[in-house]
Amino acid sequence: MTYNVNISNYRVGLTAYDQVDAICSEYGKKVAVIIGNHGYYQAESYLEEALKDSRLNLSQPIYYGGNCTYENIEKLKLMTAIIEADMIFAVGGGRVVDTAKLLGEKVKKPVFAFPTIASNCSPCTSVSIMYDENGAFVRPEFLKDPPICAFIHTPLLAKAPIKYLWAGLGDTYAKYYEASISARGDELDHPLSLGVHISEQCAESVLKHGLGALRANEEREVNDDFEQAALTIIVTTAWVSILVTLSHTPDYNSGLAHAIYYTLTTVPGFDEEKHLHGEMVAFGVLILLLVDGQQAEFKRVYDFNKEAKLPCRLADLELDIQTMENYLEAVTKMGDIRHNPYQITVEMLREAFVKLEAMN
Ligand SMILES: [Zn+2]
Repeated sequence: MTYNVNISNYRVGLTAYDQVDAICSEYGKKVAVIIGNHGYYQAESYLEEALKDSRLNLSQPIYYGGNCTYENIEKLKLMTAIIEADMIFAVGGGRVVDTAKLLGEKVKKPVFAFPTIASNCSPCTSVSIMYDENGAFVRPEFLKDPPICAFIHTPLLAKAPIKYLWAGLGDTYAKYYEASISARGDELDHPLSLGVHISEQCAESVLKHGLGALRANEEREVNDDFEQAALTIIVTTAWVSILVTLSHTPDYNSGLAHAIYYTLTTVPGFDEEKHLHGEMVAFGVLILLLVDGQQAEFKRVYDFNKEAKLPCRLADLELDIQTMENYLEAVTKMGDIRHNPYQITVEMLREAFVKLEAMN
């Protein structure tokens, strides 16, 4: 069996940017800097300070286009700064980094990630989530490599708006429950086994450090909880994602929580702008644990959601059980649960939703 496992490197902490010059100079001098709406201007001063004696030549910031779309990548490909660059720096949130990663693969230039929020694992994964021009999800685009290195500047991340960390916690613990359930009963090869085993940290670390990390983010100061949570969200989840999708089949990277998320985004009138991906996935995990009969884990996650003010009932997402009833069948048909160890039925879902609502 041949595996090509490319795991992203990372540097973390207050001095993370101090190593940018040494690591990136190996790839040339000219850097195209791709940025999002807000984060870059927070990162700029740290980067300037770290690179003041560097030979790296950074371009004017290039806006990524507003979403990770094939159209935006085609536009970026034609820009002189990209054509002339030796490498690409992606400074921003997940969509900025996803755009830069696929762009880098298309123009064959190395990519380095500079996350400005601790909300997702894009800085260390080899997949870009593609959207259309209207902002609707299109597909995951699997890449050959993750960014060469992610520079995780925790003091910068602690200054980001708290909602990103908050939602990121939910998407991160989902990784464990979805991967471990998807893999149940299967004979696992080396990368799959490794991925599923380390996924446990995605839940353990978030449940242990999540609340402390939120407090740190509120105070805009890094503490140990914040660093642990940020590394779990950005690095651990990414490594799981890389290891469990190497062969693309079976897909352990998703499950019932994401099947519920994707279904909720199709409910007419549901305001996706108001609710972040991870927030909805955090709710989906509660249903997943009830359907799977994991009482003790359900209680842990439910109590965590309550404390963290993540959703614990449909009303938290401005939905109700009558509306949900019309979408239970759609959930059972989602590709995310194709590899569940047992068939998830409408009745199982209904029972879980009713049970959860009755608790509130
Ligand atoms: Zn997710």
